[in-house]
Amino acid sequence: MRFVSFYDDAANVRPGFIENGALHPIACTSLIEYIAAAPSERQTYHVDKTLDAAKVRLAAPVRPRKNVFCVGRNYMEHAKEGARALGRELKLPEVPTFFTKAPTAIADPDATLTFSAKLSEEYDWEAELAVVIGQRTRDCPEERALDAVFGYTALNDLTARNLQRAHGQWFKGKSLDESCPLGPWIVPISELGDGAGLGLSLCVNGIEKQHARTDGMIFPVRRLIAELSAGLTLEPGDVIATGTPEGVGFARTPPEFLHDGDVVEVSIDRIGTLRNTIRIERVP
Ligand code: MG
Repeated sequence: MRFVSFYDDAANVRPGFIENGALHPIACTSLIEYIAAAPSERQTYHVDKTLDAAKVRLAAPVRPRKNVFCVGRNYMEHAKEGARALGRELKLPEVPTFFTKAPTAIADPDATLTFSAKLSEEYDWEAELAVVIGQRTRDCPEERALDAVFGYTALNDLTARNLQRAHGQWFKGKSLDESCPLGPWIVPISELGDGAGLGLSLCVNGIEKQHARTDGMIFPVRRLIAELSAGLTLEPGDVIATGTPEGVGFARTPPEFLHDGDVVEVSIDRIGTLRNTIRIERVP
């Protein structure tokens, strides 16, 4: 089962799920409302109608009201390549490095993402497994962390590297509009368990730039939820981007960045492919 948000004929975003090629609309105002319902109640929102899933345009599955939680340096090889590229000594974090992306950064699967050449010439990619929270939780121990998860999707943590460096805090360089495409759908936790053991890759114009397995996370999903929820409430529909593996543009030799017209694809085993086209706007 794949949970989606899609555009109806009037261009309103509606929730639904796809099963065997059919899209079943859900009678809720948003997928977050459905996710927030008690698991035993969710069935009552299913309706007896289907659409052809191939004919609908998908939206980002959720648009959380608050910032997207993100984790920096959560794969060993990526931590190493970053230290090497910045000429710094590798110091591994003892706790996850959390930062956030603004909710206005969320973008749809298949959308063209427009960025300004005035702000940056260093737009970079970061393929990530994203966790979607299903239950309100605080101080959640690792043993119960997966109970709080609704499912998983793919995310591209697009980053303006010059802004990330200039501001010290990563927020600005990570939060530009449309810099957080998400989707194409959410696969429920019942199918993916703890999120480990999934191949994760990123291609630019069909050429592979990143390829790793989610087992390589320094802090796995359970630990991320335990650390993040300590004294901090997580709510249904919240998104946690779990970090990117090695192969990002700025750490390559020579460095590589995104260009106008590039097609970027984040693929995760048993989830699917999140595809976006990059538009770099040059205003004189
Ligand atoms: Mg990232």
